[in-house]
Amino acid sequence: MFDVKLTSWGATEEVTGSCHLLKINNYRLLIDCGLWQGSWESYLKNWDEFGFDPSSLDAVILTHAHLDHCGRLPKLYAQGYKGKVYTTEPSIKLAQIVLKDNYHITQEKARYHKLPQLYSLSDLNKVDWQAVNYYQTIQLGDDISFSIHNAGHILGAGIIELKIGGRIIVFSGDIGGENMPLVKDVDYLKKADYVITESTYGNRLHEDLKDRNEKLLEAVKRTVVNNSTLLISIFAIERTQDILKVLNDYYENHLDFNVPVFLDSPMAASATRIYKQSIKYLNQAAQDTLNTDNDLFNFPHLKITNQVRKSKQINAVAPPKIIMAGSGMAEGGRVLHHLARYVKDAKNTILFIGFQVPGTLGHKLINGTFNFDYYGKSVPIKAAVDQIDGFSAHADQAALLKWLGSFKKPKKVFLSHGNKEVMEEYAKTIQAKLKFDTLILKKGESIKL
Ligand SMILES: [Zn+2]
Repeated sequence: MFDVKLTSWGATEEVTGSCHLLKINNYRLLIDCGLWQGSWESYLKNWDEFGFDPSSLDAVILTHAHLDHCGRLPKLYAQGYKGKVYTTEPSIKLAQIVLKDNYHITQEKARYHKLPQLYSLSDLNKVDWQAVNYYQTIQLGDDISFSIHNAGHILGAGIIELKIGGRIIVFSGDIGGENMPLVKDVDYLKKADYVITESTYGNRLHEDLKDRNEKLLEAVKRTVVNNSTLLISIFAIERTQDILKVLNDYYENHLDFNVPVFLDSPMAASATRIYKQSIKYLNQAAQDTLNTDNDLFNFPHLKITNQVRKSKQINAVAPPKIIMAGSGMAEGGRVLHHLARYVKDAKNTILFIGFQVPGTLGHKLINGTFNFDYYGKSVPIKAAVDQIDGFSAHADQAALLKWLGSFKKPKKVFLSHGNKEVMEEYAKTIQAKLKFDTLILKKGESIKL
């Protein structure tokens, strides 16, 4: 007989910091160990104690390479964890660049705010990655096994299906929907006793796939008419490659269109290289395009500016021009110095792609703040600020309900990874439409499964 207890230590009534502990008799399994992002108050929680002893863990499974799911993995090793981290091969490659980038950011923030180092480079190198193929069964112990299904979210992202004795527990991780520009459609599972699901967009619908491409291209065309600058705040993984593909298709079909596009993010450039190495993980349409176009993410007039010197030279390029820079929520990175320069001109457009966590500069800008603080200097916002939701790698409410509705009456559904109000609304929707018993996870609360 198995005694199974679930305790969530992050992404409870919030969208970051994913961290779920399962105690299976004496076996301790952690699903994800993400960073808290968003407001400074939320970010500070990364320095808190884990709530469990990392050295007591037997295994860790990572759903995908987003920072809010993998960001505290090195901290686990810093505090005594010695086991493996199971995940797909693209997730390993992406997480390695994400964690290295985050190391420099947290170092800088820790120094500035006189906090201890969150983790060292040697902790980062201690992470013992174990690659798992989709659908491969991994035996963790007697009658405890798991497999990873395609989450349709970002390259390599997985849904974890855990089998404990006769029980099936499914962790959604972050799930995407159907007809994503690059990754394959999400897998629909049928059987589970318990489902722990994300709920980021539990109360909202995305715009249509066609609309999002149109909206992006409209912003591009407007930039030409206004002879101005389009600054796109990008997430290095998936969104960047999605946008590059849309631009690639446009430029390949409009050979006389010569507006320069600067990909001003070394991390996004590295992530794009990983996409190119992982063709078999892409959807059929993307693979088919590769038959006629040998590079989905490259086109005339795309310039990748890895060095700081080259990044600074972008300023001297006459408009019209397009700049893609991170971080995606404008919380750091090169987008900040571009914002400080281009936000002051009403002709320019600042475009945000995907979900913006409340408390971030991206969230403030799309909600109409009048100025922003750039190293103690107030910069007035005159440029048009716009957001395209449809590039989100997250399923919207309809897609979430479709995915959850494919299960045959689970005993219970647990909600994680969403804002409190969104979760409350989504829980009611699930109960009304699917008639599934639904509970919102609370931090540190142990639930017997
Ligand atoms: Zn994610």
